[in-house]
Amino acid sequence: MEAILLKNAFLIFSYRNELKYLLFTFVVILALPIIAVIVLTQSGISLVSDALAHYNPQTKSIELFYPDGTKYNTIQATTVWPVKGVVTLEFGDSDLPYQVFHSGIDIANPDGKIGDDVVAIMPGKVIYAGEISWGFGKHVIIDHGNNITSIYGHLSEIDVTEGQEVAIGEIIGKEGETGWATGPHVHLQIDVWGIPVNPRTFLGEEDPPGKIKLLSIITYQLTLSQQTQNKFLDL
Ligand SMILES: [Zn+2]
Repeated sequence: MEAILLKNAFLIFSYRNELKYLLFTFVVILALPIIAVIVLTQSGISLVSDALAHYNPQTKSIELFYPDGTKYNTIQATTVWPVKGVVTLEFGDSDLPYQVFHSGIDIANPDGKIGDDVVAIMPGKVIYAGEISWGFGKHVIIDHGNNITSIYGHLSEIDVTEGQEVAIGEIIGKEGETGWATGPHVHLQIDVWGIPVNPRTFLGEEDPPGKIKLLSIITYQLTLSQQTQNKFLDL
């Protein structure tokens, strides 16, 4: 009896490499759905974004589509950025653990200061001007018609009221760090049919007015690490 047990023990021991492979395979299989979700959301969101609003570089215009793929309008790209600064997080980038994909673009003040003017990127009507304690903090939402809305998040001050008509380039508030923000920046989000699309589709191919990008990002990150010891949520 003992001999058989001993023999079995040796048998299992001799299979330890195979067991390791089995365990590894098991872990990979378990992780597959997670990997799939990340891959799908990363590529999927860009596909959805491009299907609803498509930038045509030749005509510098934006073609707008119904969710079923039918084109319903063509509008001109805007040249007005909501704020000057540097883009520190692009649309669709991973913002884990807070967002699987980033639903807008973050334009930061490279000197880590609040108070820069934030302006409307296109004419429209203010449909929200208020504050929540989380997420976007103080933010403004503008309806531009054509099923397009723009959101300006993390403001320090709001200078418009709900129902107000705003012109392109009109000041709507001041850059800040309210809500989930690790430093002064504007989260610009553009929704078409309520679905976030890449704001760069509407802003052409240029970067926002500001300093040299790489240098600015380094300065920004350095300022951040000095300023924010306790706050680490960013949206
Ligand atoms: Zn953001």
